[in-house]
Amino acid sequence: MEIAKQLAQEIGPRVSGSPKELETAEFLSREFQKIGIEPKIQKFKYLGWEQVDRPSLSVLCPTKMDIKVSPMAYTGSTPRGGVEGILRFHGIFYLFPRLMELPKYAIIDDRGEKVAFLLVQPGSRSRPIPNPWLQILQDPMVLVGEEEFKPILKAIESRKDVRVHLEAMGKYVQSFTSYNVIATLEGKRSETIIIGGHHDSVEGSPGANDNASGVEGIFRMARKLLHKKRNHTFKLITWGGHEWGLFGSQYFVRDEKERGSIEQVKACLTLDVLGCGDFLWIWAGPPWFRGRIEATLKNSGFSEKREIRYEDTLIGSDDWSFSVENIPHALFMEWPAENLHFPSDLFENIDENKLNYTVDAAYAVIEDFDKGLK
Ligand SMILES: [Zn+2]
Repeated sequence: MEIAKQLAQEIGPRVSGSPKELETAEFLSREFQKIGIEPKIQKFKYLGWEQVDRPSLSVLCPTKMDIKVSPMAYTGSTPRGGVEGILRFHGIFYLFPRLMELPKYAIIDDRGEKVAFLLVQPGSRSRPIPNPWLQILQDPMVLVGEEEFKPILKAIESRKDVRVHLEAMGKYVQSFTSYNVIATLEGKRSETIIIGGHHDSVEGSPGANDNASGVEGIFRMARKLLHKKRNHTFKLITWGGHEWGLFGSQYFVRDEKERGSIEQVKACLTLDVLGCGDFLWIWAGPPWFRGRIEATLKNSGFSEKREIRYEDTLIGSDDWSFSVENIPHALFMEWPAENLHFPSDLFENIDENKLNYTVDAAYAVIEDFDKGLK
């Protein structure tokens, strides 16, 4: 677990675009060199976002109280001094369909205008999700933890007017720089299978389960593949820019497409959030590809050892960037992940048995793919 330990314990939070992320990319690059692969660091730029001040939410009536909120990246700002109004249920915000669908409340000011929004997150506290998946939103918006929202919800349900004040300010920042670390293992054919997972974390979180564990898995697979006769070429990639909106994998796919080499990419397997949870969750598509994974895990006995749930393609991790180009893709994730995006996502919480299981299962799937893909 040296790789995961180094990322989560020694480097710690490694927000994409920060010096810590560059340190991470350089460390991973050296680790690939140590096992005998010369990797390439792919640098890319993207539109960033930063909070100006910590957002603040106060309930003014029926009972005065302050509520902790987290910023929501790529959203608009309230004016300095904030906005005030009555809370009303607005609808459901599909942050990640089927994974995180959040109740959305509007703050309606005295002119009857929706001036800002609250998104209610499951769990006791709000956690930063700097990740509205490719959406650039103009409304001011913050995240509130379900538990902390309870008194407000109660008041709303008993038809009391809940008046709040919110100040939330952020700014867009041009040209954040991030990095993908790409290690290539040539095979008999130039047709390529990608094994990837992001190396960045959210602000303040050491990102152990999310996703030092997946990077650890990538290195374990690299070591195994290195000593195997390979039909396909393998690219083992750690992505940057993930937590801001899958920017690393999107950049890679776009770049391959521009240079006419995307047709060589035959499959992408993503490891994101391992060593935790109650079950292995596999999101995969198209259906024939998912079926093949299911069959492999059944035939090799993995299905008996732990619960595996299958899902069609969903937006949530870097395999999504490949799905857009109709490249067969799968995400291996262990769920639920209670510490996800919290400062408590610590190295000691990685369950090694669970991690071993999922990496072995992923490797069995990869070995099967290498026999030939449709
Ligand atoms: Zn992740």
